[in-house]
Amino acid sequence: FITGKRKATEVAHAVWRSIVQKGDTVVDATCGNGNDTLALLKMVADERGQGRVYGMDIQDSAIESTSSFLKMAVEDYYQDLVKLFPVCHSRMEEIVPKDASVRLVAFNLGYLPGGDKTLITVPKTTELALQAASRILSSGGLISVLVYIGHPGGRDELDVVESFASSLPIDTWASCKLQMVNRPVAPVLILLNKK
Ligand code: SAM
Repeated sequence: FITGKRKATEVAHAVWRSIVQKGDTVVDATCGNGNDTLALLKMVADERGQGRVYGMDIQDSAIESTSSFLKMAVEDYYQDLVKLFPVCHSRMEEIVPKDASVRLVAFNLGYLPGGDKTLITVPKTTELALQAASRILSSGGLISVLVYIGHPGGRDELDVVESFASSLPIDTWASCKLQMVNRPVAPVLILLNKK
């Protein structure tokens, strides 16, 4: 997964690809400008119209940005497989259908690149969202959390994510952390696999 040239998001995508299959239902908990949403759509979309990406972002502008990015990147047919919602990710259970078998919930924490840096994910709602994600995830699924520790508040979020990860029971969860040892402020990837 890791080479010196790879960005943290590319490493995360490589991990997702090892878990996600065509026809799966996945959640993008932080759509931002839509890069992760598009990557997820390409992983799940199949010719039979199966595969769903439920995306959310607290900012209307991020949802608009994701929507227009997808319009440019893929045909209308595939866009229909993505459902976008301008809500806090702590409310994901209100969005994702109760009978959906969710393979992946992806978080890319922090602020919208090119947007208002004060509109940032915060520990309290991140924790609530992780709890919600753990409830909707199907067996064999993955919660992936990319945490940027180089900006103010980033380390507080890492503390919350790590504390949540370490609280998960070992008989049903495997939690691990990918961190660049020789780049101390590089983003940290936390992976939570539900057995
Ligand atoms: N995944 C995005 C992409 O590929 O472009 C980048 C995500 S960006 C680092 C983090 C996003 O989280 C921002 O767009 C921000 O608005 C959003 N965000 C902040 N708080 C949130 C919350 N409580 N619920 C959902 N999204 C939130």
